[in-house]
Amino acid sequence: MTMTATFTGLSAAAPVSSRLESFARAHVFERPTLILDIDRVEAQYHALSAGLGRAAIHYAVKANPAPEILERLAAIGGHFDAASRREIELCLAAGAHAEDISFGNTVKKPADIAFAHAVGVEIFAADAAEELEKIAEHAPGAQVYIRLLVDASGADWPLTRKFGTSHDVALELMAQARALGLRPVGLSFHVGSQTRDPMMWAPVLDQIAQVWHAGRAAGFELDLLNIGGGFPAFYGDDIPHPTAYAARVAELVAERFGDVPRIMAEPGRGLVAEAGLIAAEVLLVSRKSHDDLHRWVMLDIGKFSGLAETMDEAIRYQFVTDRDHEAMGPCILAGPSCDSADVLYEKRPVSLPLGLKAGDRILIRACGAYTSSYASVGFNGFPPLDVVVI
Ligand SMILES: *Cc1c(COP(=O)(O)O)cnc(C)c1O
Repeated sequence: MTMTATFTGLSAAAPVSSRLESFARAHVFERPTLILDIDRVEAQYHALSAGLGRAAIHYAVKANPAPEILERLAAIGGHFDAASRREIELCLAAGAHAEDISFGNTVKKPADIAFAHAVGVEIFAADAAEELEKIAEHAPGAQVYIRLLVDASGADWPLTRKFGTSHDVALELMAQARALGLRPVGLSFHVGSQTRDPMMWAPVLDQIAQVWHAGRAAGFELDLLNIGGGFPAFYGDDIPHPTAYAARVAELVAERFGDVPRIMAEPGRGLVAEAGLIAAEVLLVSRKSHDDLHRWVMLDIGKFSGLAETMDEAIRYQFVTDRDHEAMGPCILAGPSCDSADVLYEKRPVSLPLGLKAGDRILIRACGAYTSSYASVGFNGFPPLDVVVI
């Protein structure tokens, strides 16, 4: 690390990743392993919370459902956003109270809605008429918030198109919810995952505020604003400190919405990514021809065993080897499975030591989010990610 260590993101992340890295270096792992530092999750929770003020933090469980993370967050007063019956069960088993769990998936199984209602979950998301009908039938009288579509905001991992509804339909859904005996209490959206600059929230919040004020003018007693996730993790590009980032977002919200009685935030990546490090191994370094420009470096972990977010090379992980002091050169990085889709980075090659060879250890930073939960059960017989908690 050179002079860039003075940038906020790097200086915030560096001491903690070295704790994970020393642990990784002190142990031998037989298969790709995600090492989690639960104290780091707690520190990140407090950092975000300090910036968000009185907003309730509902951890997006899908980012990493490790029981140790859920237990720690429940113990320090965290709330949860679950997407399925299984995630609700995990939260309850970790000690969460049902009333602190929101059911935020807009595509729910009726039996899951009935389960959630039976155990005491009170708040549900919807973005379509059929979903409201399901909720009214299986969770009568529940609070619902309507998820809105937002324009692409510049996030590294956008979540536009599939979820949410338009301004006009949102108002119709609120009326429908009321007619069905539900309580339309608010709105939600997701700015897009890994939104590195808090100012990218401004145009999105402008869109949401229009619907919010129109809904209130139409007589709906909206008191809940769910600002979703999108809080960034440090993957090598500079990002603001989490408290500064969250405070800026809270300020942008206050400017447009005033004093909202209930605000929820649902960080996933921003809460847990930097608390995880993957220990992996180089399986092969090769060149396809004598004049091949780039080496191919094959790892024992790939797209199907934990690194799914390399899809379209969207998330660019940082790699650490024991040879980083040696001369470096570009390479194409790939996983071990017998599938040509299992290439991690090719459009933008990765710089790795020229002396790298089979058997070398390779550490992958900021892997606490969307890795273990994304690993397949065993494509090609390669095991899913092992998880170790320190
Ligand atoms: C995935 C998800 C989140 C978490 O998003 P991050 O970008 O990881 O913070 C939050 N809310 C909902 C509804 C989600 O689906």
